[in-house]
Amino acid sequence: MIKFLDLQKINLLHGQEIEDRLIKTFRSGWYLLGEEVKGFEKNLSAYIGCRHAIGVANGLDALRLIFKAYIELGVMQPGDEVILPANTYIASVLAITDNNLVPVLVEPTIETYNIDIAKIEEKITPKTKAIMVVHLYGQVVFSEELKDLADKHNLKIIEDNAQAIGAQCNGIKTGNLGDAAGFSFYPGKNLGALGDAGAVTTNNDALAKIIRALANYGSDTKYVNKYQGLNSRLDEIQAAVLDVKLRYLDTENLRRRQIADYYLTNITNPKIKLPQRPVDDLAHVWHVFVVRTKERDRLQRFLAAADIQTLIHYPIPIHKQEAYINLSALSLPITEQIHREVLSLPISPVLTDLEVTKVVDVLNTY
Ligand SMILES: *Cc1c(COP(=O)(O)O)cnc(C)c1O
Repeated sequence: MIKFLDLQKINLLHGQEIEDRLIKTFRSGWYLLGEEVKGFEKNLSAYIGCRHAIGVANGLDALRLIFKAYIELGVMQPGDEVILPANTYIASVLAITDNNLVPVLVEPTIETYNIDIAKIEEKITPKTKAIMVVHLYGQVVFSEELKDLADKHNLKIIEDNAQAIGAQCNGIKTGNLGDAAGFSFYPGKNLGALGDAGAVTTNNDALAKIIRALANYGSDTKYVNKYQGLNSRLDEIQAAVLDVKLRYLDTENLRRRQIADYYLTNITNPKIKLPQRPVDDLAHVWHVFVVRTKERDRLQRFLAAADIQTLIHYPIPIHKQEAYINLSALSLPITEQIHREVLSLPISPVLTDLEVTKVVDVLNTY
């Protein structure tokens, strides 16, 4: 059986080191707001190349807190609009609506599955305050054109970097391309914890200070509450694990690139549409390897019969979810096509050469 993602095997790659750190943290008797979180935040900000990294409870909270902090700063107000790609994961849009901001969905391009930058400007109104870019599937979406557009209309660029940690655009890492970024360390992400975890990165001192307070009951001094915050702290145990795994992230992303390269070169079945090769190798960390085909469910069954697990990222678009019934009248044909046709193949740092060649062979006989 070729698993889509073998988390046990992934974490056992560094099993001894992780166990040592877990025991050390356990025995320390200190479980929240301590040295492990501080150390991981320092190493994460150094890795990303930005001034601040703030550990939080999960990726959704990281994004929610960014908007909440901009509202506290008076940069945004409830009712303001935020542009985002229509084919993203539900968490991106939840972070917006949770803050009583209005999501404005924009189609992706069928070649990159990332937001179509050329379609953003027509959606900008006097209420637009931000563009949330999502580096979907692990691929960077950023350009000078996007930056100029944001500058021209005085918009914040917020990165949903849940899927692309380690990717770069002209030498700058995702998480350091815009004004603030949210990271998820959900176990299945390229840098995964042993449970929920997340982080915010930014170069904005005032924003960082507010986010840190908001994530801790709105308090920066114990029992003194400046804001109506929430409890969204990264705990010491998760920080310790992440701090170990961060050191191996580049090596693991490299292995993902090798596998992606092998798939791109060797899957030759014309019924299967492969993802575009990124212009720059470093602009993609292949969180998932997504192919498209007309009869997607049939292909998924065919692979399952050959003991190859696949997943769909994602089967139902946001505007067709019951939770967003108010968006159901939108016409987003590219988004709908993507949700109908995509299938994610196994890719991970622990997939063996033998497994990779088997996936290719089976796909080529479909
Ligand atoms: C995983 C993910 C999130 C949310 O992360 P959680 O840690 O699960 O809350 C947000 N956006 C995208 C694009 C994701 O893939």
